[in-house]
Amino acid sequence: MKYDLVIVRFGEIVIKGRNRNRFETMLLTQIRMALKSMPALEFVRSYARVYIRLNGESYEQVAKRLKDIFGIMSFSPVIGAELDLEAIRESSLNLIRGLKTPPATFKVSVNRGWKQFPHNSVEMNHLVGSHVLRNTPDLKVNVRTPDVELKIDIQRDNAYIYCEVEKGAGGFPLGMNGKAMLLLSGGIDSPVAGWMAMRKGLKIEAVHFHSYPFTSEQAKEKVVTLAKRLAYYGGKIKLHLVPFTEIQTKLAQSGHDNLIITLMRRCMLRITERLAEQNGALAIVTGDSLGQVASQTLGSMNVIGRVSSLPMLRPLVMMDKQDIIEHAEKIDTYKTSILPYEDCCTLFVPKSPAINPNLNIVERAEAYMGSELDRLIDEAVQGTEVVVLKEDGITDSAEQSQKEDAWF
Ligand code: ATP
Ligand code: MG
Repeated sequence: MKYDLVIVRFGEIVIKGRNRNRFETMLLTQIRMALKSMPALEFVRSYARVYIRLNGESYEQVAKRLKDIFGIMSFSPVIGAELDLEAIRESSLNLIRGLKTPPATFKVSVNRGWKQFPHNSVEMNHLVGSHVLRNTPDLKVNVRTPDVELKIDIQRDNAYIYCEVEKGAGGFPLGMNGKAMLLLSGGIDSPVAGWMAMRKGLKIEAVHFHSYPFTSEQAKEKVVTLAKRLAYYGGKIKLHLVPFTEIQTKLAQSGHDNLIITLMRRCMLRITERLAEQNGALAIVTGDSLGQVASQTLGSMNVIGRVSSLPMLRPLVMMDKQDIIEHAEKIDTYKTSILPYEDCCTLFVPKSPAINPNLNIVERAEAYMGSELDRLIDEAVQGTEVVVLKEDGITDSAEQSQKEDAWF
């Protein structure tokens, strides 16, 4: 079937008020940028939707990309017909005949937006429906629960005919809800958490802690690959690579073996908070899932989270591992996440990590390291390397990307 245009319906941005216009403009810009490899496309904005004129571009290719843009509720491939009864009848019949799974039942719903059209919508339902029925053996009408609803929208310029509705990714347009720092390890969970945060309209900057040379160059590459994949969904991603070796070595010497993960996580948060401040982010997103490992018990989350006053967002907190894995497969991060390279946290894993760390003891251990720890944290912040990643892998410098459009 050769379609003429696509109707794109917006999702949760249907929030009333004066910001709505701004959010719709934002989403339209993101749709345009995501589809920029198809130059013939034309975009027409209307109330809570966008019409994309295909001008010969492939609908399948457009659909594949639209499915991954946040803020889109659904979309439909449409064929256009002249404002003439016979033309509308023929196009409707072609559309039904072209469906991959032939329906057993259908109904026609006509919306006469242009009132000068000579037949009203009740007449049109009948005139078009009878034509389709006459020419499609075995097809029946069912007005309550049809397999297919043939929609005909009669406008001043054209009639628009469609019957398929594809589900979009939902959520909010990227950036509509501000910016957050994502703690991105090389594991399975944090990329999924990042995707969920972006779907809720958060622009993400990723922060990764590495312990080079204890962790390999490949471990870093793996995180870069994951961040690029996130950039496919979220536009350019700024990735902060934080040198964590000295802090880890220092903590390993603290004599609190069972608290080392707690201490490490608290340092990570302190550093992330500083990076958040420098970059205008108002929350920290992690891949924590309740009870998954010792550092993710309620007791641990409590002692770790207390070090930062920024809101901690943990999208996976109530999810089962298996569901997270399935999600990672869907967003195509799983195969990268399971590559076997060491993460900095797996290097110093104690025999029996505390599942219920004591805040007083943790704070005392940190106080004991005192200004030395503060100095190492300062150095880690200063030594942080920044790369800006795009989905197609081209990296450019942070300064350059600030000048350019920050989205795709
Ligand atoms: P993941 O699969 O995301 O690595 P995990 O189940 O392995 O999670 P942990 O290793 O305990 O769990 O990490 C919990 C969370 O802490 C991660 O989801 C991530 O947000 C953050 N995190 C852990 N290690 C790092 C790191 N090296 N750099 C940045 N963030 C990290
Ligand atoms: Mg991990």
